Amino acid sequence: MRARTYDAIIAGASFAGLAVARELHGRVLLLDRYPVGEHQTSACGTPLWIAEQLGVKESVLQVHRRAVVHTPTRTVIYDALELPYCTFDYRRFCHGLLVQSDAEFRRTTVRSLRDGVVETDAGRFEAPVIVDASGWHRALVGGPALATRRVRLSFGLETEAGYTGDDLYFWVDPTILEEGAAWLFPIGGRSRVGVGSYAGASKLRGPLERFLGGLDLVPGSFHGTYFPAGLAAPTVGRVFAVGDAGGHCLPLTGEGIRPAVYFGRMLGGIAQGVIDGRLSLESALATYRRRVLAHRSAYRLLRAIQWVVQKAPGAWLGSLAELSLRPWLFRRWWPAYLRFGRAGMLDERMGAAVFTIRSQPTGQ
Ligand SMILES: Cc1cc2nc3c(=O)[nH]c(=O)nc-3n(C[C@H](O)[C@H](O)[C@H](O)COP(=O)(O)OP(=O)(O)OC[C@H]3O[C@@H](n4cnc5c(N)ncnc54)[C@H](O)[C@@H]3O)c2cc1C
Repeated sequence: MRARTYDAIIAGASFAGLAVARELHGRVLLLDRYPVGEHQTSACGTPLWIAEQLGVKESVLQVHRRAVVHTPTRTVIYDALELPYCTFDYRRFCHGLLVQSDAEFRRTTVRSLRDGVVETDAGRFEAPVIVDASGWHRALVGGPALATRRVRLSFGLETEAGYTGDDLYFWVDPTILEEGAAWLFPIGGRSRVGVGSYAGASKLRGPLERFLGGLDLVPGSFHGTYFPAGLAAPTVGRVFAVGDAGGHCLPLTGEGIRPAVYFGRMLGGIAQGVIDGRLSLESALATYRRRVLAHRSAYRLLRAIQWVVQKAPGAWLGSLAELSLRPWLFRRWWPAYLRFGRAGMLDERMGAAVFTIRSQPTGQ
């Protein structure tokens, strides 16, 4: 059977795939094995400016101006007054992006890339621009990261429960989960509650149920998946990798939506040059590689901090949190973290008064 031809093919129609598709004009084919917005794997917490800049603010469920991080001995409270985070409805967020794109969506499983042709259950397709945005499955750039071990993987499991509140909560406490963290993100009338293992342990239902029991909360249904904790190759052969497929999720915090959108938009801009005939495929691959790898040191630093937090005994975690708040250190890492992905999305306004921070003994 002859392959059908497009200008661009994108495998995966979640955050990264939709962010790329939104930037492209031409004959663009967007492929996913689930209908768009129907297979949520995330707590869907991201900076509010992401939803605003993408024009999907109607998907926002709740705005959060404070994050509270519990360690066994110290609790740290971050007030992000001018740069709040939000939690959003995955379906509405994805559909809001899809309607902004010209892409033709097909529900099908992507199997492989053979001789430049994308093989799927719905047929064979070819295009000058081929993008792998299939998350940790990495359908086109080398197969599941788990099998190839080319990308370090964390695992998260999550449910919804009937808690209402204002703040985003995190727990870094080995008594809840060895080498991991727990979170509770309010979403209006309910909350998304989860645990994530830095070590990639996937049997998390027991620890999550115990954690919920400790908070007097009853779980709903569960969802979970792997997410990367380290950059992978931005391109493999002639394929661009973006989002979790490219290892773009930020280590330590597991924040993957903002980088998926950031690198997705960046890739869309570069790939449009190929579609318009302004750029050869080789130049586009090299440009994307260079621009992604410019962030390599940020990923290495976050990965190193993740390793320290992962391996530190529980008794040290409070002291480490305190250390991170020393003004000389805090002034460097926190604004840099918040700024990640803002280039080209927002003005670079980042005043010193954007946040306040304090800590207190845990349990007070
Ligand atoms: C429990 C949990 C909670 C999280 N919470 C947050 C959070 O609150 N905030 C945050 O920023 N990050 C969070 N993350 C991380 C974040 O979800 C990911 O980094 C983000 O989803 C990456 O987006 P993506 O588009 O690259 O990949 P994905 O969202 O994984 O999307 C990949 C898409 O590809 C499709 N696909 C895969 N294989 C194939 C195939 N062979 N054929 C066709 N389609 C395929 C999938 O169906 C899917 O739609 C969380 C992760 C987990 C596990």
